Amino acid sequence: MTAALYIHIPFCDIRCGYCDFYTVTHRHVQILPYLTALKKEVDFYSSQAEIQALQFETIFFGGGTPSLLTPQQISDLLEYFYSKLNFVASKLEITVETNPNTVDLQKLYDFKSVGVNRLSIGFQSFEQGELEFLDRDHSAKEAVHCFRNARKAGFENISLDLIFGLPGQKLKAWENNLEKAIALEPDHISAYNLTFEQGTPLTAQLQKGKFKTAPEERQGEMQMQAIEFLEKKGLQQYEISNYAHPGLECLHNQKYWDYSSYLGLGASAHSFINLRRFWNIRNFVSYMEMLEKQTLPVEDEEIIAGETLAFEQVYLGLRQNTGVSFENYKKRTGLDFFKKYKKPLAKFFDLNKASIVSLRNGDEQLKSKFLEIKNAHLKLTQNGLLLADSICAEFI
Ligand code: SF4
Repeated sequence: MTAALYIHIPFCDIRCGYCDFYTVTHRHVQILPYLTALKKEVDFYSSQAEIQALQFETIFFGGGTPSLLTPQQISDLLEYFYSKLNFVASKLEITVETNPNTVDLQKLYDFKSVGVNRLSIGFQSFEQGELEFLDRDHSAKEAVHCFRNARKAGFENISLDLIFGLPGQKLKAWENNLEKAIALEPDHISAYNLTFEQGTPLTAQLQKGKFKTAPEERQGEMQMQAIEFLEKKGLQQYEISNYAHPGLECLHNQKYWDYSSYLGLGASAHSFINLRRFWNIRNFVSYMEMLEKQTLPVEDEEIIAGETLAFEQVYLGLRQNTGVSFENYKKRTGLDFFKKYKKPLAKFFDLNKASIVSLRNGDEQLKSKFLEIKNAHLKLTQNGLLLADSICAEFI
């Protein structure tokens, strides 16, 4: 069974106001012991039969700011993982999330030479005012410089992260960001709608009334703008927030959405192995202490079964442009999709207009404003994409 390996590097130079990932600042001195702890953690897993049965196809250094690590540190970790886990050597995708001001040309060359073959660069915006609102510690110029250096260093698979739906952001400003992004000819773009997560500094400002969120209608228009503009430029939307040239989709993230197994190492990292989801404690000091005491730093776990298993198939399937496969749904849950979701489907479709057998095997199709059934899959339409969460909620 193929799988994904995620490594969480929580260290950051600064804390961006919108971010709710587990990160720490001013603790770079702890990077070395943290890397040692990561090796101890993989030691635990490498002796487990269920982990030995996995063939890892992707390695993703996320964070936090993994580009704070030196190429030598990345190389040491990779070599260690290669010696402990099984990898599909022929098509290993190795991604490092990169903050523009943490790498120069030489460092990028060195990342490439130790085996990193994909970069995900945090641009977020090309407008200085927007970058300041988000508390980013780089300018657009620095991000562009980073991108160009990455190309010079030989990276052929580079993704840009962008954020839209900022308070007061106009459609024209978002279009401007998209145009500047495309001018760089990236291979992949992740475009996220700004969300206000509990406990972040930006949410605290919102709650104090310092600004208002962008109207939902405008956020929807921006999403549509991204889909139409990027598709014209050859980047196909393959998941709600992700666009790629064909063949350059992020294999690692696709594994999450396809319900493949993944092993997460590091503080706060989540894993999903044989329908068991478990996650590490969200404190890097406790994480290191537990490993020092020969204890796995797992905070809790959940066995995915029954209604949760069924709903996750729908939720993860609808996020992708391929949709929910009726065949895969049956294989994973043992249930017939049309019997299970007779009521919610009837809210969207006149099911008397087609034979269920033909819809199930792909011989017939149906389309409503928000959903369509085509090629034995249930998919969101473009209108549906804007209301993905509430449509998914109908299937709970
Ligand atoms: S957005 Fe990225 S750089 Fe900013 S705090 Fe979060 S993980 Fe760190």
